[in-house]
Amino acid sequence: MSATLRFKVVEQAFAKKPVDVPNRTVRPSEFFAKYVFNRQKMFQYLPAKVYERMVDVMDNGAQLDRETADAVASGMKKWAMELGATHCTHWFQPLTEGTAEKHDAFVVHDGKGGMIEEFTGKELIQQEPDASSFPSGGIRSTFEARGYSAWDPASPVFVMGDTLMIPTVFVSYTGEALDYKAPLKKAINAVDQAATAVAKYFYPDVTKVNSNLGWEQEYFLVDESLYAARPDLVMTGRTLMGHDSAKNQQMDDHYFGAIPQRVAMFMKDLEISALELGIPCKTRHNEVAPNQFELAPIFEEMNLANDHNMLIMSLMKNIARKHGFRCLLHEKPFAGVNGSGKHNNWSLTTNTGVLLHAPGKTPLDNLRFITFVVETLKAVYRHNGLLKASIISASNVHRLGGNEAPPTIISSFLGTQLSDVLSKLEESDDDELLNISGKQAINLHVPQIPDLMLDNTDRNRTSPFAFTGNRFEFRAVGSRANSAAAMIVLNCAVAEALMDFRERVDALVAEGEDKNKAIIKVVREDIKEVKPLIFDGNGYSEEWRLEAQRRGLDVVSSAPLMFDQYLASDTIEMFRRTNVFTKAELEARTEIKLETYTKKVQIEARVFGDLCLNHIVPVATRNQSQLVDNVLKLQSIFPIDEANRLSQTNLQRIRAISGHIQFIMENVERMVDARRVANRIQDEREKAIAYHDNVAPLIECIRKHVDDLELIVDDELWPLPKYREMLFIR
Ligand code: ADP
Ligand code: MG
Repeated sequence: MSATLRFKVVEQAFAKKPVDVPNRTVRPSEFFAKYVFNRQKMFQYLPAKVYERMVDVMDNGAQLDRETADAVASGMKKWAMELGATHCTHWFQPLTEGTAEKHDAFVVHDGKGGMIEEFTGKELIQQEPDASSFPSGGIRSTFEARGYSAWDPASPVFVMGDTLMIPTVFVSYTGEALDYKAPLKKAINAVDQAATAVAKYFYPDVTKVNSNLGWEQEYFLVDESLYAARPDLVMTGRTLMGHDSAKNQQMDDHYFGAIPQRVAMFMKDLEISALELGIPCKTRHNEVAPNQFELAPIFEEMNLANDHNMLIMSLMKNIARKHGFRCLLHEKPFAGVNGSGKHNNWSLTTNTGVLLHAPGKTPLDNLRFITFVVETLKAVYRHNGLLKASIISASNVHRLGGNEAPPTIISSFLGTQLSDVLSKLEESDDDELLNISGKQAINLHVPQIPDLMLDNTDRNRTSPFAFTGNRFEFRAVGSRANSAAAMIVLNCAVAEALMDFRERVDALVAEGEDKNKAIIKVVREDIKEVKPLIFDGNGYSEEWRLEAQRRGLDVVSSAPLMFDQYLASDTIEMFRRTNVFTKAELEARTEIKLETYTKKVQIEARVFGDLCLNHIVPVATRNQSQLVDNVLKLQSIFPIDEANRLSQTNLQRIRAISGHIQFIMENVERMVDARRVANRIQDEREKAIAYHDNVAPLIECIRKHVDDLELIVDDELWPLPKYREMLFIR
């Protein structure tokens, strides 16, 4: 890449016109879920009996027999072929990023030299992708090598392009999960059971509790030509160098600003595709950083919501390219401006329609509300370190702790109203609670819940786990992550807290205590216990780190060490009790996390080293020679004193450039050595620690010198598109 080429791509990017997306003549309600085999399509394409059995499978988890599967497959094939599908694939979520698929055509030989389209129940239910090409963290060596994918009937199949996509779980032959979906389903089930049991204290007719997830997906768009001119973006998803542009987000003029035309067309295109795939898009807006945007749908049942998030991430990437953009899902593509997160709005709802995390109208409703809020806080408090481990990655580390992102300490913000309610309950006198029994529930001594609470949207945007009126918002999740990692931990932790809660309440009741009084007693104990988690100050300050440490919260900031939480004894116990992961599975997952971390830093270090040596230093050297040349020439035409005086600023620049070059060369060498040493380490944990401690910091430290050079070196020579070019052209 030369500077001339840089100017050319900048010019190209500037000249691009919006790609027109025609207006739809039909309303979204008419094309919503057009490509989804939902209940309505099932009803239409399946025989009545088969449809009924499918409903039983979807709603009650009934076993899917082979005969039904064949009948479903045949209706599904008919529907998909009408939409132009020729292939089908199992679509799964391996422990890498994103999703995986393996396409098979709908054809078999007809035995007479021809082909016929066929799609059987067997193909629908199960496939055998080669497990050895996906990370399994040692499960491969310990267990059987093969893996299989199995249809998740709770997620509807859909057609994308010419392919029928079948959402599946991906497990080893011996049953260990090799993906995110299988444990997510188990975690949803765990919280269902535990929460249903507790919800019955308040509403005896509840038989099921659903987990809700409403994600808000942030992303950046960068013009494709500029992207192509940045090897670091192409290879690592973030810029490893680049000086701040003079203007970035300091004017606060991007958030909710007018959406630029090219971007507006992209969004429109994306929304149409998403709606057709049944994703209920609701909100779109500019985010805080230049070229940063957000999309949020209406919340859905968690398993489906997560499928939809995985799907939207691939749609974003594909549709961006149609519009001459690249979509960046990395948590921190640009230093100095906001990073991207994926807020996970989380709550529980009963099958009778009660939103368990929202206050209600009667004292009993409110006791239920407080119970679920406090037990959620208890779950987060007990497992705050593990929750942090669930969201940390080699890329999310760059986002946390700065520019509106939550810090690397998990705390919770409740807002003054809820905090007041909790402290009133904590302090209320036990005697006042006498004579409360089922019938007199109206006298329950639950503090008044202000109506305002329902619209209590908090503005401490840096709080990692904030209560926002009728849900909790987990904001530390990374923009490119599979939210399942965080939701598995949150659901299991809440399930565990609710199981404990119920045991304690039941024990008191067995001793003769009134049920509601027992509930209040246990809630009151827990309010006291979770206090250290509650925080509404500046999460970035050193005082908070020290204070958090005193409070016993997890303040570890090194990613490889955070992963230790997955193998802590209370983690293993929690996952055992909730029946979600065995110890072997946890060991495997931790190993994968460590390995992935190492590889990411390793790739960054290599790309960065190359860029320094092949792009930056040569250009800086050329500029240095030009300046030297100028100094010498001045000496040849002026008397020496005058020449020296005239050369002063150039001499300073030569010195500065030489100093930076020197520093960069020496430290890139040190970085290569540090990598070599780290690569020889066998133990994955030790290796990741070495990469974290000895390699990653060098990238950041050398980068400062490269960024300084960018300011000094002649713009005519600089080879890489600058921040001001990448962030403001659209
Ligand atoms: P903000 O940016 O203020 O946080 P948004 O409206 O962008 O709010 O996003 C809120 C998200 O939370 C949406 O996906 C919305 O559907 C979801 N949500 C709203 N209520 C709940 C709830 N009770 N449980 C889970 N998600 C919810
Ligand atoms: Mg939000």
